[in-house]
Amino acid sequence: MTLTDVIEVLEAAYPPARAESWDAVGLVCGDPAERVHKVLFAVDPVAVVAEEALDWGADLIVTHHPLYLRGTTSVAATTPKGRLIHRLIKHDVALYTAHTNADTANPGVSDALARAVGLTGDLVPLQPFPDDPWRGLGRVGELPEPTTLGEFAARAAKGLPRTSGGLRVAGDLARPVTRVAVSGGAGDSLLATAKAAAVDVFLTADLRHHPASEFVESGGPALIDAAHWATEWPWLDSAASILHSSGVTVETRVSATVTDAWTRGY
Ligand SMILES: [Zn+2]
Repeated sequence: MTLTDVIEVLEAAYPPARAESWDAVGLVCGDPAERVHKVLFAVDPVAVVAEEALDWGADLIVTHHPLYLRGTTSVAATTPKGRLIHRLIKHDVALYTAHTNADTANPGVSDALARAVGLTGDLVPLQPFPDDPWRGLGRVGELPEPTTLGEFAARAAKGLPRTSGGLRVAGDLARPVTRVAVSGGAGDSLLATAKAAAVDVFLTADLRHHPASEFVESGGPALIDAAHWATEWPWLDSAASILHSSGVTVETRVSATVTDAWTRGY
């Protein structure tokens, strides 16, 4: 398999044209003609992930987050990002990103998140594309059986990889929960949409005090704020299975290294 073969499969599942205009997706470094045997999937293109790739002998790292989101005029090894690029190129490791094009895909980041926290039935986008009702940001679905906010939060915590911050809940723990919205990564911008979707709880990441407080005060759904990394990590498995089911014969591995920014809670 060449890098081109692998990219073809990834781009069929996560079309780059569906990425937000501000996003930076696709091949960051690597020669499309090179052979690929081992692919490491990770959320963040950070030093510890690059080391894991080198130790394992990966030829390609597929990450969710872009390395250079805002562009750059230098990849000199004088910055952490420049050092990472040098390390990868010196060892013939390619880096590829599927970010907002993976968020909005079907199945995408929020489908994997929804499954991880216990939604078993049909899922629909929380904010569908105007031209495609089956793709878009976030997912809405129902739990197989009604439960309470407290029980759902405990189940979600078990289904997601462990992080130092765990989950934070806003709302009455005894509140009945059946209909759930989730969105991997920062979900602030979807608060109003979650309220309009009449869900019982909205689980996402990176929620801030004022928007969250005002949301709950205004009678919106309960909120669960998880670690950003943890909400996107379940997607890695789903992306790896897409490679396998496409017939691409590569070895895959999902990095279990926690690269959430917050490393310790007290
Ligand atoms: Zn993210």
